[in-house]
Amino acid sequence: MSLLFPALHAASSRPALRFGDRELSYHQLAAAAGDVAARVESAGRVAVWATPGLETCVGVVGALLAGVPAVPVNPKSGERELAHIVTDSAPSLVLAEPGAELPDALASLPRADIDLTGTGEPSDSAWSLPPEPGPESAALIVYTSGTTGPPKGVVLSRRAIASSLDALEDAWRWTEDDTLVHALPLFHVHGLILGVLGPLRRGGALRHLGRFTTEGVARELSSGGTMLFGVPTMYHRIAEALASDPALVSALSGARLLVSGSAALPLPDHERITEATGRHVIERYGMTETLMNTSVRADGTPRPGTVGVPLKDVDVRLVDDAGERVTVQDGETVGELQVRGPNLFTEYLNRPDATAEAFDGGWFRTGDMATRDADGYVRIVGRKATDLIKSGGYKIGAGEIENVLLAHPGVAEAAVAAEPDPDLGERVAAWIVPADPANPPDTEELTALVTRQLAPHKRPRTVRFLDALPRNDMGKVMKRELPDLPVQGGS
Ligand code: ATP
Ligand code: MG
Repeated sequence: MSLLFPALHAASSRPALRFGDRELSYHQLAAAAGDVAARVESAGRVAVWATPGLETCVGVVGALLAGVPAVPVNPKSGERELAHIVTDSAPSLVLAEPGAELPDALASLPRADIDLTGTGEPSDSAWSLPPEPGPESAALIVYTSGTTGPPKGVVLSRRAIASSLDALEDAWRWTEDDTLVHALPLFHVHGLILGVLGPLRRGGALRHLGRFTTEGVARELSSGGTMLFGVPTMYHRIAEALASDPALVSALSGARLLVSGSAALPLPDHERITEATGRHVIERYGMTETLMNTSVRADGTPRPGTVGVPLKDVDVRLVDDAGERVTVQDGETVGELQVRGPNLFTEYLNRPDATAEAFDGGWFRTGDMATRDADGYVRIVGRKATDLIKSGGYKIGAGEIENVLLAHPGVAEAAVAAEPDPDLGERVAAWIVPADPANPPDTEELTALVTRQLAPHKRPRTVRFLDALPRNDMGKVMKRELPDLPVQGGS
């Protein structure tokens, strides 16, 4: 495998990373990360206190250069989650920005501050990068989002990271001339591996907004930004803002690539953005365990509602409940998606049982249900665990029902999940955030809409109104929390 970051070794004064008004060139990044690499060299594993700043990027890149596995930690983790991550990953050192106040679970460990004040253009002798470790060595341990259960530590090799980023280069025509704009957190695959390591592997630049605002997106995309990464909640806010923000419309219209991932982007948001800007948001599908699997290609036909086609070197297949391969590519027949390729993780940390269970031969069981059409486009129907409703002999996907409900003007947000039912086994239940809380939509009207557009057996048997859907830091709906939430009426 070639170097993970060739542009760092050929350090130049080209911009690499910018957060607000703080920026590092490749030259400065190489010096700062080389310095971190020298300081962490003898650590077994390092935790990186992953605030949305330059220090986090320098810490992660430094650890990668040294070949010391890094564990990015969400600075907003709850106490229990943090205790789990620290015990599970057992770091021997914490990297943090100076002055960051660490919680007890981390404060007792040795700490190395990443102080970037005064990082100037170094002289050539000031940076010499260590030789890179082998492709199979553990590079990062990233915890899953915890959407379906407690987060699992996923061990990712340099090979997995390099191959997935190169597959995205191929699919998105990603080059050193691209400047990526995003506001994603830096402790998951999306924000950190795609969003920071992606531009660095290409030799391009990142401009991070710190906090997501539609004004920030408009500003950066109209002043040199070429690509935007976001999660569906961000694109939803963009879709809402477009009607009253001509600067945002022109910024998006001029961008080279708008990419959404981490969860499904509802069709109404796709449509509103395309209508206002003439641009299609392209969706890609991945997981912590697999990095990226499929994407709509930059030069491909956009198909909203699908996550595109398999990436370079990635094989996908659908498997039915009996473990048989689903060979029909009709865009209708659903199976569990399994993937195989150089993008796969090494193992779940400390969980040989879970690792073994996750594989079917060399294929990784994603737990996501999907269809494929004749052209190979994959549509994610939902997660086996939370989005597949087994009702009266039917298997019903939550996503298509959510899309129908979202098209009703009185509905701001919708989540559909299974509820136990004495007759049907499970029944379809909907949780709705009304556009106007004082005037929620008529529940009969909502169920009639589903009956008309989909089929009678897909209509929600119960509809409940909520103030907001429970979401995690990536904006993913935590469906397992829905049954316990206080509701504001419904049927
Ligand atoms: P946990 O595994 O802890 O329950 P998680 O699965 O949400 O959490 P991640 O690895 O961050 O943790 O997310 C991967 C999941 O995100 C995928 O399995 C899939 O369900 C969902 N996902 C990612 N991208 C898309 C997309 N474009 N469309 C639909 N779902 C997506
Ligand atoms: Mg998962």
